[in-house]
Amino acid sequence: MTKTYQLFIGGQWVDSVTGKTFETRNPATGELNGIVAEAQQEDVDLAVKAARRAFESGPWAEMAPSDRGRLLHRAAQKLWENVDLLAELETKDNGQPINESKYIAIPAMIDVLEFYAGLANKVQGETLSSPGNRFNYTLREPLGVIGAIVPWNFPLMLAMWKLAPALAAGNTIVIKPAEDTPISTLELAKLFQEVGIPDGVINVIPGRGDIAGEGLASHPDVDKIAFTGSTGVGRLVMQAASRHIKPVSLELGGKSPNIVFDDASIDDAVNGSMFGIYFNQGQVCAAGSRLFVQEGIYDRFMDSFIRKVEGIRIGNPLEATTQMGPQVSEKQLNTIERYVQSGLEEGARLVTGGKRFAGTENGYYYTPTIFENVSNSMSIAREEIFGPVISVIRFKDEEDVLKKANDTLYGLASGLWTNDLKLAHRMAKGLKAGTVYINTFSMLDSAAPFGGTKQSGFGRELGIQAMDMYTHTKSVWVDLNKEGLNWYQL
Ligand code: NAD
Repeated sequence: MTKTYQLFIGGQWVDSVTGKTFETRNPATGELNGIVAEAQQEDVDLAVKAARRAFESGPWAEMAPSDRGRLLHRAAQKLWENVDLLAELETKDNGQPINESKYIAIPAMIDVLEFYAGLANKVQGETLSSPGNRFNYTLREPLGVIGAIVPWNFPLMLAMWKLAPALAAGNTIVIKPAEDTPISTLELAKLFQEVGIPDGVINVIPGRGDIAGEGLASHPDVDKIAFTGSTGVGRLVMQAASRHIKPVSLELGGKSPNIVFDDASIDDAVNGSMFGIYFNQGQVCAAGSRLFVQEGIYDRFMDSFIRKVEGIRIGNPLEATTQMGPQVSEKQLNTIERYVQSGLEEGARLVTGGKRFAGTENGYYYTPTIFENVSNSMSIAREEIFGPVISVIRFKDEEDVLKKANDTLYGLASGLWTNDLKLAHRMAKGLKAGTVYINTFSMLDSAAPFGGTKQSGFGRELGIQAMDMYTHTKSVWVDLNKEGLNWYQL
């Protein structure tokens, strides 16, 4: 029987006021995962109202920070008990291999919740050395209602990057998951409800980006928008938020360079570069999609890289042996095909892959693809493909590669492989990106801030820094003069 899912607003499971619904399908099989209520502007209004009510009064507004932290820890415990369920939902929604969702994405997501649960009672203001008989202190306060707009590549993890710091700081939240992956976030809300999160603190409104997403970004009563998604949509979100001078944080796309120097340990560089691009079928914002390889190591590196890439096991993502599942949708598959075609037309050499994977019937599978002889000006080297396609560029020396690596509109992540300590740190300084990986790629930790520069966005998620994005500083002045201060007699 087909499962149906409702919106989660004010602690209630409700249909959209218009009764509209949409289908969500398993990208590996085309099977229907469920029919989901589709939020319209009226539903956005109701969700924001519920979040506002929960923020202004009632148990959440009155809860001591330590109790808030304890409640978030209880939720984390509940999530640990449901790792299998969440991993399976995530994999059925977006096609991520079950080993990646179960052992990487879901545990990392719960770790984020625990990290911020621990910070709930550590939000602090300051006392300042004030002049004369005056005294000033600052309060660090929650912003209010947070609107979170999330993409489909890591639905739960990217929702949690917003939800956990927002709630730890005392805000309430309305989350708009991506059209392709709404189910796991609804399940997440259910688990939070079961541990007693007060009504209205978390609201989930699946729906279309240009309706529910736009409605949230431009809503007059939302205090901040936290967005993860493409650079193009990020621009629209920023415009919509500007209507009410709403702060935004934007985690956007990337075209991250991954640089292998002559003296690198080949096996490490090969394995890390593979993970850097093919993890989650290449649908990773920080993916090392431009692979720069130095002349002296080029042939040896490429021999090993190609051999290993051709051995990647593609298949049903629910099977534990699968290393690469399907792309999330037909739309993504078509985009990848368009880019592969443009790579061929612009003169790059297709080394392996470059076609749909034929071993399965209905899924959106694509083969891991390598292009050589790529120049930095080709569209496969400039634009984010968001699929399992890597563009390999040969380089001469440090100056040459630094210039090329930074010659991009994006600045999310970057990586390099070398055993030369000085070179590694010179590169770390020179690369224009929010993250630099040295002899590793795509590492994440709840305590390590993550975010972009240039058109990869601004703001830092994760780490203690993220709490700043969900609080504001209030400056409080007190006059200590016995007689009071009469400005007109000065
Ligand atoms: P997308 O930009 O198409 O959609 C992201 C979200 O925005 C979805 O929920 C969508 O419904 C919503 N949306 C669409 N139009 C909207 C509008 N007009 N107003 C408000 N919301 C709207 O991105 P996607 O295809 O879901 O995800 C892939 C993109 O996300 C890639 O570019 C990737 O690099 C980026 N990404 C970035 C990070 C990061 O941390 N920097 C992480 C993951 C993904």
